[in-house]
Amino acid sequence: MTMKSEIISVGTELLLGNIVNTNSAFLSGELAKLGIDVYFHVTVGDNRQRLMETMGEAIERSDLIIITGGLGPTSDDITKETVAEVTGRRLIPDEAELTKLKSYFERTNREMTPNNIKQAYVPEGASVVGNDNGTAPGIILEHNNTTIIMMPGPPIEMKPMFYEKIEPYLRKKSSNSLVSITLKFFGIGESSLEHQLSDLIESQSDPTIAPYAGDGEVRVRITSRSESGEKVPESILKVVSEIEKRLGDYIYSYHDRSLQQVTAMLLLKSGKTLAVAESCTGGKLSTLLTSVSGVSKSYMGGVVSYSNGVKQSLLGVNRETLIKAGAVSRETALQMADGVRRVCGSEIGLSVTGIAGPDGGSINKPVGIVYMALSAEDGSWVWERKFMGNRDKVQTFAAKNALNHLRLYLSKGITSIDKNKY
Ligand code: ATP
Repeated sequence: MTMKSEIISVGTELLLGNIVNTNSAFLSGELAKLGIDVYFHVTVGDNRQRLMETMGEAIERSDLIIITGGLGPTSDDITKETVAEVTGRRLIPDEAELTKLKSYFERTNREMTPNNIKQAYVPEGASVVGNDNGTAPGIILEHNNTTIIMMPGPPIEMKPMFYEKIEPYLRKKSSNSLVSITLKFFGIGESSLEHQLSDLIESQSDPTIAPYAGDGEVRVRITSRSESGEKVPESILKVVSEIEKRLGDYIYSYHDRSLQQVTAMLLLKSGKTLAVAESCTGGKLSTLLTSVSGVSKSYMGGVVSYSNGVKQSLLGVNRETLIKAGAVSRETALQMADGVRRVCGSEIGLSVTGIAGPDGGSINKPVGIVYMALSAEDGSWVWERKFMGNRDKVQTFAAKNALNHLRLYLSKGITSIDKNKY
């Protein structure tokens, strides 16, 4: 079982909307990487009674509670006091922190007031986590079966403290060796993916299977404890191979890499050269490819053939084809791919032509229709897709889809052992 965690953000400013709660977003992301499930985000003002209630509930339902904010010297900073009260502990001075605080005030030539001293007090039995970027220390308290972690509110203090002190602590705690693999999918939506894996997701215990979506990508993270250190445990490999059986072609990365990175890696491995011809994507496909460093060994260049004139003069697309089938058609896409391959002298030609909208659609060729073609020594292929969304979305989907077709073409014959590199 993984740890159930909850994040409590303390501060009336957050409730008033004066500041945005970036701490919880950051912590959720980091806990996910550690395979720790976050069940609740709670935001509470600097109010003793409500913080007591919040803490009480959290202790009942969570294995790990991370609290940020309210650790400072002023009287409205009440996080420690409340945690001490709820857990039935006294606040006692931490000698090391007291010394540090005293020398800080001496160094900066300021007078230390009693409320400053308050910062060096921690609940009995807690361990103190030094703050290298501010005065309020962090605190870790193991209370019965719950771990309570308190960190200062300012992200500039909290983030380094998390990376340097808290993350290693949690990593150790949630077992010395939590291993996870992130599979990335292309061409399948989150709901369809969840549906096809629902039996695995519902019956999961170890490894845990967590699908999540964002930035137009769908990922599945499979996490397990490993007794054997770095090695990916057998239990994860079994789940991966079951998912591959069902959704193999949609998986493009086993290591959280981007589609362009994986495609470029495959291209470089194939030793083949590539040129692209773009119409509706206006260069997006080239931009994706050239975002990967080292791709110049394989990627020769591209032509943005936006007008029919350029499609004809530079790529040699047939005038008849443009009149009869149109600039957005299977035939034109194929001739663009053939043409760019010939003009650039590459082994593979890849093309995209479509209607990005919002204008220019018709009944036969609605907005969002895109043709992509690939031309190579062993044949030519063309695909038609209809994308939804605004102009930018259609262009991005089109460029990524073309890239994905190239990936599928290049990954033919890749063995399952090879796949694990991507
Ligand atoms: P300090 O050591 O500064 O006294 P503190 O633990 O008392 O820290 P707060 O007084 O609650 O922290 O918050 C200080 C500042 O930190 C806020 O004004 C805000 O700028 C930032 N902050 C607090 N909580 C959050 C949060 N959840 N997300 C983003 N920023 C936050």
